[in-house]
Amino acid sequence: MEKLTVRDADVAGKRVLLRVDFNVPIEDGKVKDDSRIRASIPTIRYLLEQNAVVILMSHLGRPNGKVVESARLRAVAERLSGLLRSRVPVTGDALGIGTSDAIGRLKPGQILMLENLRFHGAEEANDPDFAKTLASYGEVYVNDAFGTAHRAHASTVGVPALLPAYAGLLMEREIRNLSQLLEAPKRPFAAVIGGAKVSTKIAVLEHLMTKVDTFLIGGGMANTFLVAKGMTVGKSLLEKDRVADAARVLAAAEDQGVSFLLPSDVVVAKEVTRGAEHKIVPAHKIPNSWSVVDIGPLTRQAFAEALEPARTVFWNGPLGVFEVPTFGDGTRAMARDLARRAEAGTTVVVGGGDSVAALEELHLTSKMTHISTGGGASLEFLEGRELPGIAVLQHRPVPPRAAKRKPASKAKAKAPAVR
Ligand code: ADP
Ligand code: MG
Repeated sequence: MEKLTVRDADVAGKRVLLRVDFNVPIEDGKVKDDSRIRASIPTIRYLLEQNAVVILMSHLGRPNGKVVESARLRAVAERLSGLLRSRVPVTGDALGIGTSDAIGRLKPGQILMLENLRFHGAEEANDPDFAKTLASYGEVYVNDAFGTAHRAHASTVGVPALLPAYAGLLMEREIRNLSQLLEAPKRPFAAVIGGAKVSTKIAVLEHLMTKVDTFLIGGGMANTFLVAKGMTVGKSLLEKDRVADAARVLAAAEDQGVSFLLPSDVVVAKEVTRGAEHKIVPAHKIPNSWSVVDIGPLTRQAFAEALEPARTVFWNGPLGVFEVPTFGDGTRAMARDLARRAEAGTTVVVGGGDSVAALEELHLTSKMTHISTGGGASLEFLEGRELPGIAVLQHRPVPPRAAKRKPASKAKAKAPAVR
């Protein structure tokens, strides 16, 4: 269902509460990675150009309902001020008379940031009084915090229930790109899924099963699949209690004619640490006291070949322990391969904090079609779940003629139409 966006709202001269996700890494009092701040600049600029009064709300870290000095938003506001080339003040607290007075003094085209919402336990508890106070600061609500949209907190579901609520431009872009994967991907559609634990990816594998033509599986999670196929994985990361789930996923792939590629060779190491002894072995010959740390060269090649025909690719999760550079070849090769494909016109969408970090190291993020700013949120979205922070935003009314038309078939394009 399409959402109304900030462009549909009448915001001129109005006080707009803008929920952003400025939960960025801070080191020595400075913002270490400002991509989430940059990602919301278009919405902020748009609102300021429309002469709205902009009141920013965000969380930072996990202060758990207490004031934690290192979780103050000052460094974030400083970076934002630099990006906007205009000073963005931060209130001392999200609540209090000082804050409501400061908001009352704002003129159209001015901006202010509320202090870290999570200094109040009421934020994560979605406390109705807290939501009411926040809502009283504004006349219109805009949500640009896609990365927090899977959480039902006061600022993501409590406030928008009390005000006319719209999607920001970043939120709109996230919804459009991720929905495209689920609803109308150009085929063939391949999903590259890696990362540490299979338990966090079962739901997304099962939901994507009816959408994709090919799965490419790597990372620690591949081990559980290898075991489900009767292999042994030595000392590798393995979720024994998920072997049955993995077997079910394998059976579903077989059933639906989805090709499901697992590593045929792997890099194994004595220890999962820098400088540890390591070697390449076939996936069915993983030695007892060794751990899988990356996909091997044959697998890299097989994955590249399987991606050759793809017109859409989704990637989540590194293919090895890429934080140790020696074990990052598989992940780096995938990042470079996907960048090349995206430049050649393949739709490439990447989600997941660590996968995106791997791309950033190689300065390849700008090559991709879409990089999701939400790790957990993008996975939940692709699990087919409705995110509470999106559900609460106003729908675009369906024009009466379109409403009468029969909904498009959800069946895969390659499946023959059976009547
Ligand atoms: P993302 O954040 O992209 O969604 P995950 O959080 O699921 O990815 O997984 C990332 C983590 O998976 C990384 O810390 C990486 O070291 C780890 N990982 C990848 N391959 C392996 C492996 N073979 N064994 C253990 N851990 C792995
Ligand atoms: Mg991660």
